[in-house]
Amino acid sequence: MKITDLKVAIIGDAPIVRVTTDEGIDGVGAGETFKPYLKPMIEFYRDLIIGKDPTDVERVMLGIRRMGSFKPWGTAVSAIEMALWDIAGKAAGVPSYKLLGGKIRDKVQVYNGNVRFKREGNEPEHFAADMQVMKDHPYNFSIIKQPVSFHGGMHRYMDDFHFGTAVQNRRYPNRGTITPKGFKYLLACIEAMQDVLGDDVGLALDCGPGMTVPDALKLAKELEGSNIMWLEDMVIGNYHPYELADQYTQITPYTSTPIHTGEQLYLRQNCVDLIERNAVNVLGPDVADVGGIAEMKFIAEYADLHGILFAPHGTFNGLIGLAAQTHMAAVLPENFIAFELPTADPAWWLDIMEGGEQFAVTDSHIDVPDTPGLGLTFIPEEGGKYLREEDAGFFDD
Ligand SMILES: [Mg+2]
Repeated sequence: MKITDLKVAIIGDAPIVRVTTDEGIDGVGAGETFKPYLKPMIEFYRDLIIGKDPTDVERVMLGIRRMGSFKPWGTAVSAIEMALWDIAGKAAGVPSYKLLGGKIRDKVQVYNGNVRFKREGNEPEHFAADMQVMKDHPYNFSIIKQPVSFHGGMHRYMDDFHFGTAVQNRRYPNRGTITPKGFKYLLACIEAMQDVLGDDVGLALDCGPGMTVPDALKLAKELEGSNIMWLEDMVIGNYHPYELADQYTQITPYTSTPIHTGEQLYLRQNCVDLIERNAVNVLGPDVADVGGIAEMKFIAEYADLHGILFAPHGTFNGLIGLAAQTHMAAVLPENFIAFELPTADPAWWLDIMEGGEQFAVTDSHIDVPDTPGLGLTFIPEEGGKYLREEDAGFFDD
């Protein structure tokens, strides 16, 4: 079998990959649903994969992996990798996870991710009310993650959250020392949320980046004994094109509160320091940034050898990303906790692909599907309604 084309279309606002072959089997992959700008980056790899056998996934990846990087290039490489596993599975007539070592669980755990609601205000009682809505959600989440501190924009809506002047731009990497008042407020909001959750649901907190090392350790120690699932990206993370294990080694060994980072990472090589130095307790790369499904499997296995847990990022990966994450989670070792739930976004994604309903959430879990490939197939007549003019040929052979 040979790859005949790599097509990219922006559907909704999501960059969608379709790899076609000379045997009529195609594969799909995707980047985050709000990143149409990734299209030319994905197209860059077209000439590097055409003519290759897509079922020799690793051989194709060897040819392009080195030509990637941290976001946004890692997304392009990862989306192609998903599409290759989709083809390989369909060609073999088995779900993609069978080719990744086989599943070790029949259902995979997810946490709220893209299921979120607008908070009515910024007082602790508003955090509590928001948490109650989330707790009552029909997906019956076993873990709920909420943004706080710099990640929650506390520096933007509170004048004196930290010693510094906040730049009012979501992309700006605000950071600094949190004021006594800011710290008290942060703890009050966390306590209000924990009061709602009680012992029924685990609370994880996405905190930064932007916190100083002393503030990160102070927060982690304050929360000891409260069964927080993890504190995420306190110091660096998100879009940083590096991992700075040194800073995390000043926090993680000194607290019993689990410390998490990793959503920005590309490739196993960039996880070595974090893992070998036990710089974090929980790693959370994103299947759509790290280099793909097999890359996640390798990193999780290596992390497991070092006693590090795995809670992957993935909020904005859309329906195709949800399928990729489900296959990934089916094969990860027992250090896997849960992945961040992406949703069909917008909901009409469920109308343009067959198989989407297999990824429905019940009691915070998704049943691992047994359909070939990743389990999703475009319905061209339906999908065609959402194609932009320049992508009109996306569903053609
Ligand atoms: Mg995060």
